Amino acid sequence: MKRTKISEIWSPELLGQKVCVKGWVRTRRGNKHVQFVALNDGSTIKNIQIVFDMEKFSEDDLKPITTGSSLHVEGLLVESQGKGQTAEIQAETLEIYGTADVNDYPLQKKGHTLEFLREKAHLRPRTNTFGAILRIRHTLAFAIHKFFNDRGFFYLNTPLITSSDCEGAGAMFQVTTLDLNNVPKCEDGKVDYSQDFFGKPASLTVSGQLEGELGATALGAIYTFGPTFRAENSNTPRHLAEFWMIEPEVAFNDITDNMQLAEDFIKYCISYALEHAADDIEFLAKMYDEELIDRLKSVVSHDFVRLTYTEGVRILEESGHKFEFPVYWGADLQSEHERFLVEEHFKRPVILTDYPKEIKAFYMKQNDDGKTVRAMDVLFPKIGEIIGGSEREESYDKLLARINELGIPMKDMWWYLDTRRFGTVPHSGFGLGFERLVLFVTGMTNIRDVIPFPRTPNNCEF
Ligand code: ATP
Ligand code: MN
Repeated sequence: MKRTKISEIWSPELLGQKVCVKGWVRTRRGNKHVQFVALNDGSTIKNIQIVFDMEKFSEDDLKPITTGSSLHVEGLLVESQGKGQTAEIQAETLEIYGTADVNDYPLQKKGHTLEFLREKAHLRPRTNTFGAILRIRHTLAFAIHKFFNDRGFFYLNTPLITSSDCEGAGAMFQVTTLDLNNVPKCEDGKVDYSQDFFGKPASLTVSGQLEGELGATALGAIYTFGPTFRAENSNTPRHLAEFWMIEPEVAFNDITDNMQLAEDFIKYCISYALEHAADDIEFLAKMYDEELIDRLKSVVSHDFVRLTYTEGVRILEESGHKFEFPVYWGADLQSEHERFLVEEHFKRPVILTDYPKEIKAFYMKQNDDGKTVRAMDVLFPKIGEIIGGSEREESYDKLLARINELGIPMKDMWWYLDTRRFGTVPHSGFGLGFERLVLFVTGMTNIRDVIPFPRTPNNCEF
């Protein structure tokens, strides 16, 4: 018989029909007359209740059914007698695929802490919490592709292995096939990379932006959506060593267009999740964060504040608030500063622009004041920075001057400078950290809990 997914079982026309379901047991309870099994197959947060009439089944038949075991059940789908559910299955046949020993199965009991589940990362997708998070993550990924596709952006795949190490967005992981126990050396004692796989040093990318600009200045509007790697040794609840980033890049957009795109984009994703992952969001709100749904709706329904860095710093200085890190013009804002502006001062998301050029990347468009660049960070409640972007410097001479000023080697940059040498245009883009968006939408507080297999310092289990 054809299997029905549990997410599909609630459709009214199935009531009274014989159905086949397969899944994993969440709980079993009951007495010697009747036994109830809550079955979940991952397609939805909702379990289906299977009712075993003990005149048709024996104690021995049901004994292997413990939390975590896997079943195939066929039976009649009927309206439920029990509270809180609309339908249940009266079991007629039972096949047990696999058992899960009560003493060994780590998820035997309910209510494990998120910390405990991080240690059991290989099994935690089977919990209600991680099932909900992973389905929301999928829904957001789908919304992202849909948003850009509907607006005529092209999905561009930028390289994960790169030989340019000047993006400056973070420390890089080196990629090599050299034998680290016997590294070939040049006469001057340095590593002889001519013998390495690519014949020169290579690393994992920290951002697809520079290559994204090559796409935007050809296709007009592109976006990337792929993994990025940063070897930053920062054990924070908002940083991963391997995370996913979405980077749209658009020819002819200035920073104002760029801000509007960022705001429309992020609101679209949140609205999409509210509509298409409602069950899972409601579950997480109930379990972890009662204000979650209000917070999501509030972000969608308010305009984001637009403010210069200089004005932002003045508000922070004049707030009288005591911060752990000092705040002054020129300082790189910390998460506590960003969150103060968003959560205390404006009570909605803020887009901060025109940062000092010293704390931003070389490719950002230089303002006429000689001090600031046309950067924009989108700051969110609970998160701090969720998006970082800018209008790009399109003048070949100004870009080259900045590259030389910072001592970035030309051998790394010639291909990038060609975008400004041949048919240069104003253009802008930004990077959204996917996990920071998933954090916001799920209401989770640790970024390790919104990616299936987190990689952080000293943590790379499988
Ligand atoms: P932060 O200051 O929070 O470390 P950043 O300014 O270094 O971030 P960008 O280079 O602007 O980050 O990257 C674009 C976006 O990627 C950020 O706005 C953030 O959402 C996300 N991001 C950056 N680093 C990480 C990381 N290590 N783990 C997860 N997401 C990240
Ligand atoms: Mn940034």
